Amino acid sequence: MKARIAVLPGDGIGPEVTAGAQQILEQVAHLFDHKFELEEYLMGGCSIDRYGTPLTDETLADCNASDAVLLGAVGGPKWDDPMAKVRPEMGLLGLRKGMGLFANLRPVRPHPDLMHASPLKPELLSGVDMLVVRELTGGIYFGEPQGRDSQPDGNTRAFDSMVYWDYEIERVVKLACNLAAGRRKKVTSVDKANVLETSRLWRQVANNVAVSHPTITFDHQLVDAAAMRLITQPSSFDVLVTGNMFGDILTDEASVLTGSIGNLPSASLGDSGTGLYEPIHGSAPDIAGEGIANPIGAILSAAMLLRHSLNLESEASAVEAAVMHTLEEGCRTIDLRQEKALSTQQMTAEIIKNLETQKR
Ligand code: NAD
Repeated sequence: MKARIAVLPGDGIGPEVTAGAQQILEQVAHLFDHKFELEEYLMGGCSIDRYGTPLTDETLADCNASDAVLLGAVGGPKWDDPMAKVRPEMGLLGLRKGMGLFANLRPVRPHPDLMHASPLKPELLSGVDMLVVRELTGGIYFGEPQGRDSQPDGNTRAFDSMVYWDYEIERVVKLACNLAAGRRKKVTSVDKANVLETSRLWRQVANNVAVSHPTITFDHQLVDAAAMRLITQPSSFDVLVTGNMFGDILTDEASVLTGSIGNLPSASLGDSGTGLYEPIHGSAPDIAGEGIANPIGAILSAAMLLRHSLNLESEASAVEAAVMHTLEEGCRTIDLRQEKALSTQQMTAEIIKNLETQKR
């Protein structure tokens, strides 16, 4: 097949890890006889430096015209001034909004050989294979009104509004059910329906969606209980779907299960097939420029891109198997081992070698 992929390397270690992911995509194209056009664009701090804005209209239009977008990471101390009018993360928010991305997917599957790197006991991690689906465009992060006012007595009040529309809930729960259909067919919807009206609507709409997915085992859980269960019984989850703020917190909690954030991929999807794929880590300014960052999160994000935007399941599975195999062989980057750690490029080369073996 032919596909156009926009690549936004971003800042810090972003360009280093996306270089690895690009090499993997090029190798997939070569081995499986596809034609991928990879086009690089500036986004984030590097775009502020060049254009004065973290995301230009042209870059957004080109991303929307592509089949998929691969992102590294944005931000860093250079652009951290809290008084600055433009910040790198504004590019990311603009991209999610401009591409209509309403769901963020984070698979969490600790590798058996890395379980010692997790703060949880290995016996708790055995069998963990979950997918957290977070609603991305609604809820308290975007609800109006939001602001502050002061009273004559000198007290200051701040307020945010948690707002959800039924259609926003429906589309993300539907997506979670569809994804669960290709997995263990269980969806846990997480809310705070004992307190919040938005959560009661969430539960009502989620139940309606569940009715039209009879093969899915659907349950609800309050967010506080879900936060505990993620630590005490993580293997009991298959697909977990939740709103924006709860998802923000739970996805970070879930990521700790795997030991290093350098390993974890993510996908952001909307109604069009053009998804945004990025490792969950940031730009890691402390190691940027050293060529030692772990490229696995970015490479597994490329695998998600193959699966969700290009519908290339065998190719996605081959990349994932190559990563698994490379870890089984003992290859490690600095976040997982200090001594005899591989560089970003060496780790990528090992994964490419295993990808070639897979294909043979
Ligand atoms: P971070 O994820 O960049 O780094 C946290 C720690 O993990 C650091 O010690 C770093 O060296 C290490 N680390 C992260 N990724 C790694 C990898 N692939 N290999 C090896 N080690 C890795 O988080 P932070 O330090 O809180 O943020 C740094 C910058 O990144 C900030 O400007 C922040 O705003 C930005 N950020 C961007 C995104 C994004 O682009 N989506 C996400 C989170 C943070």
